[in-house]
Amino acid sequence: MTTGPAKARIDTSRPHPARVYDYLLGGKDHYPVDQALGEQMPPEAREAVAQNRAFMHRAADWAARAGIDQFLDIGTGIPTRPNLHQVVQEINPAARVVYTDNDPIVLRHAEALLVSSPEGATDYLEADVREPAKILEHAGTVLDFDRPVALSLIALMHFVPDEDDPYGITRTLLNALAPGSCLVLSHFTQDFLSDEQDRTDEYRSSGIALRPRTGPEVARFFDGLDLVDPGLVTAPRWYPGAAVPESRDATDSFHVGVARVR
Ligand code: SAH
Repeated sequence: MTTGPAKARIDTSRPHPARVYDYLLGGKDHYPVDQALGEQMPPEAREAVAQNRAFMHRAADWAARAGIDQFLDIGTGIPTRPNLHQVVQEINPAARVVYTDNDPIVLRHAEALLVSSPEGATDYLEADVREPAKILEHAGTVLDFDRPVALSLIALMHFVPDEDDPYGITRTLLNALAPGSCLVLSHFTQDFLSDEQDRTDEYRSSGIALRPRTGPEVARFFDGLDLVDPGLVTAPRWYPGAAVPESRDATDSFHVGVARVR
């Protein structure tokens, strides 16, 4: 685990994605700057992030029941029960989880991520997804990359602008995974929002480079993988094996999918 004076590095002069997300989820680990940005979001944003979090629970549950017992979760966020390891260790106590985030506030709360079942393991690394080689090297000390791993990039890649090559980063991570591994991804979209509900400028002017992506742009993250049912849908529609309702509204703010690595 990376250590360091996390508290000293917490910048309360501008909003941070992890803390705005915590505010929208109804958590307590944020500052007035984060609340101020959160309050500018349309009312549907709270429901949308709750739906995203619920997708994470269902997808992690699916992967654990499918027999995957190793997890690499990047962009973990501030701990909120149940965290991913609690979901998967409930199904398989021997599951091993590596968490990664680049925000010092997550490191400050990492203790809550490190309470593993005795049979399994959890670990935390402070790192940026734009350093995939560093993440893979560290994860390799806890996970066995010769066996399947579930890579989760949940509500993360919309913070990686095009010029930082989000597809190339994802490809580098996927190339390290054995056949039978899977990608669990959710991504912010404005496909179903009206122009009045667009808050990209509010994020950008507060220093967060938010890059919403369209359905086809999110589909590219899954190139070369086999999407499992129900395919690429919005968060409230992702139920394994269930029919997907057609209707959509402004709470459909995340495209999500789970796919197998060949
Ligand atoms: N995955 C969690 C939290 C999503 S909030 C969930 O879906 O519930 C997005 C998280 O991504 C924040 O914790 C933020 O700090 C982290 N993040 C943003 N940019 C990142 C980057 N470049 N590298 C690593 N983590 C990043």
